[in-house]
Amino acid sequence: MTPEATELELGALVRLVARRALALRCPRCGARGMFRRFAKLHETCPTCELVFRREQGSQTGSMYLTAAVNQVFAALVILAVVLCTDWGLAVQLAVSIPVVVAFCIAFLPWSQAIWAGVEFATDCINREEWGRLRETSEGNGEHGARS
Ligand SMILES: [Zn+2]
Repeated sequence: MTPEATELELGALVRLVARRALALRCPRCGARGMFRRFAKLHETCPTCELVFRREQGSQTGSMYLTAAVNQVFAALVILAVVLCTDWGLAVQLAVSIPVVVAFCIAFLPWSQAIWAGVEFATDCINREEWGRLRETSEGNGEHGARS
C-alpha cells in the first residue's frame, strides 16, 4: 500500500524524506537519478515525475544551506588545524583551503537533494496534490529504483 502524506505523522515524514535526501534519492519515490550530472538536477524525477524545480529561484534555499554548512565546516577545519597542530600559517592555509574547497564542491548535490526534500515535505504538510509519497517497485521506497 502506498503511504499518503496524510497517513504519516510529521516526524516519520521528515525522517523518510531526510533519509532519501541524504542518499541523493527522490524525496517522493526514493528513486535514484535525481541528477543528470554532478550537481545538476533533472527537471523532474525520471521515475515519478516529481518536479524538482517548480518555479524560478526555487533552489535559492539550497544556496543558503550550502553557505551555512560550508561556513560551519570551514570553522571546524580551522579550529582543528589551529588547535590540534603546530603548523605555521602557510601550512595551515595550504591544508585548510583545499579541504574546505573540496568539501564545498562535494556538498553541492546533497544541498540540492536536501532542499528538494524540504520543499517536498512542505508540500506534503500543505497537502499539495503532488505531495504524496510513493514507493518504488520493490515496495520500501529505498532500494528498487534504477538511476
Ligand atoms: Zn521520484
